[in-house]
Amino acid sequence: MGTLFEVGAALLGACIGSFLNVVVWRLPQEDPRRRSLGGRSHCPHCGALIRWFDNVPIVSWLVLGARARCCKKPIAIRYPLVEALTAGLFLLLAMRLPGGTVMLVDIDGATSIDAAAATAFGLHAVFLSLLVALSFIDFDTQLLPDVLTKPGIALGLLGGLWPGLAGLISDDTSTSPALRSVLASLVGAGVGCGVTWTIRAVGSWVFKKEAMGLGDVKLMAMVGAFLGWQSALLTMFLGCIVGAVIGGIGALRGGNTQIPFGPYLAIGAVIAMFARDAIVTFLFTTWPEWQRGSAAAPFVLGVAAAASLLLLFVLVRRSRRQS
Ligand SMILES: [Zn+2]
Repeated sequence: MGTLFEVGAALLGACIGSFLNVVVWRLPQEDPRRRSLGGRSHCPHCGALIRWFDNVPIVSWLVLGARARCCKKPIAIRYPLVEALTAGLFLLLAMRLPGGTVMLVDIDGATSIDAAAATAFGLHAVFLSLLVALSFIDFDTQLLPDVLTKPGIALGLLGGLWPGLAGLISDDTSTSPALRSVLASLVGAGVGCGVTWTIRAVGSWVFKKEAMGLGDVKLMAMVGAFLGWQSALLTMFLGCIVGAVIGGIGALRGGNTQIPFGPYLAIGAVIAMFARDAIVTFLFTTWPEWQRGSAAAPFVLGVAAAASLLLLFVLVRRSRRQS
């Protein structure tokens, strides 16, 4: 029964991914008629109507050999990749729902769906879908549209009504769990927004150019509203690491380093969502213990510090050359 549910979640993810392709393509369009999300899909090359059997997620791209049936123009590999990515995220969500809630419960031998866990699954599924759409739109256009981030913040705050989504703000049992959960969402949104705003202000003061936009501030408010303040901080931390690694590789290869920050934050949010407890245990328990007990610790720390300094040096030199 559990496996059936996971396969179902992956299939749902593939279909949602197919819809996200439409969102990523149509939302940034200038022409309001082309911006509408309704209506049938048309070929972006020749405008022919795409029939349903040529629009099956991932499968159609493979069957058609990456070429449109109508005009034989190539179909970008990005479309099936977005579908596979969303399917993979939904599968992961079905297997490891944050908070460890079990969706299917056995009551007197009959399997039924736990309503609270199903709600948590739905909210997290919407959150993941928003992250996928926002990442690709930001990558294409350097913009994070309000039309996605603002409803995302609202839904994250509403999600606080279901205790446990963003955690609880305190252990004080004299206050109702619902109130503590809503407060956790609100504080999460505030911290996500505040941290990003501060980094943005300090960054533009130090580097004399804008490292992050207001869209990133709203994206982080949404992350905090869904996941709570601890995960918002972890998301920012992980986003910076992912950004430094990918940016550093790009700089060393001499490519374009002007990749927007939104996709890095989204990757950080997904890691924070699924691996928060493991990372916190590693950073604050496993690592300090190892550092105290191991003779190799100073050497590893030294190499890591030297590598970070070298990376920073390369990045600063590159940005000087560009400006
Ligand atoms: Zn065509």
